[in-house]
Amino acid sequence: MTSLVDFTLNANDEIITVGHDWDQFALENGAPELTGQQIMGQPLLDFVTGKVTRQFVLALLHFVRYQQQSIQLHYRCDSANIRRFMLMSVSPQDSGNVHFLHKLLGTEPRQRSVYIATAIQRGQDTTVRCSMCNLVKSKQAWVEPDQLQSGNSRQSSELLVIYGICETCATLLESYDTSQSISKKPDSRFLSSNRKNDTYVEPVE
Ligand SMILES: [Zn+2]
Repeated sequence: MTSLVDFTLNANDEIITVGHDWDQFALENGAPELTGQQIMGQPLLDFVTGKVTRQFVLALLHFVRYQQQSIQLHYRCDSANIRRFMLMSVSPQDSGNVHFLHKLLGTEPRQRSVYIATAIQRGQDTTVRCSMCNLVKSKQAWVEPDQLQSGNSRQSSELLVIYGICETCATLLESYDTSQSISKKPDSRFLSSNRKNDTYVEPVE
């Protein structure tokens, strides 16, 4: 499995480089339309789903450019059968360019498969999925999608989602506004279960 992908945006938020294992990652995830050649020159926001998530990405870019500070955010990039624990490092460059490096820190299998489909708009049958931690909203709580009750719990399930940012992830950027620490110890959403009791060690670039 690929473990490192990166890309650079110009000052207009258009993709101007992709690197490391980008193409392999796109192909492994069944998205040949997203290989480097296809997306070069395109605005990043064209590939970001959900108004709230787009606002989050814009706030992230604004912060990195105007503070001239690199930040690191933990997030999840789950598939139907595995949880993927990721770290995103976002760094300012010359001329308003911004560099993104995405690193795979670890994976673990789900208890059961959850197939996610993106709804065109919010409806009675849609659930909100957080673009950062990949938890889904169930009533007032955010839970792992395989914890949602739906029929036989041993079988796989399918969820129709719209994308947003949960209340906890929405504060990820605020923590940078108030402290100089470049990285925080991630909470349990971003640690695989076999690492939750470990002393967290920041991965080395
Ligand atoms: Zn979240």
